[in-house]
Amino acid sequence: MSRPPGPPAIPRFDVGDVVETRKKHPCGSATWEIYRTGMDIGIRCTGCGRRVMMPRPKFERRVRRVVRRAQEPGPEGDRG
Ligand SMILES: [Zn+2]
Repeated sequence: MSRPPGPPAIPRFDVGDVVETRKKHPCGSATWEIYRTGMDIGIRCTGCGRRVMMPRPKFERRVRRVVRRAQEPGPEGDRG
């Protein structure tokens, strides 16, 4: 009874990535921008700007999907 080695379901995260969580924040937003990675993951609510830090395993359970990759070039159309 051994699990076959394979790639993790959730890829690695980088600073600048925007992720969607399973539960919405009280402010109504469900997307967070990663501002710190390491043993703990730091995320900032894109709705109200609140910052939260949590252990990586806990973070991975909360994340539903990655909305935007920081590495993606994307158009230079950022609105302040
Ligand atoms: Zn919020």
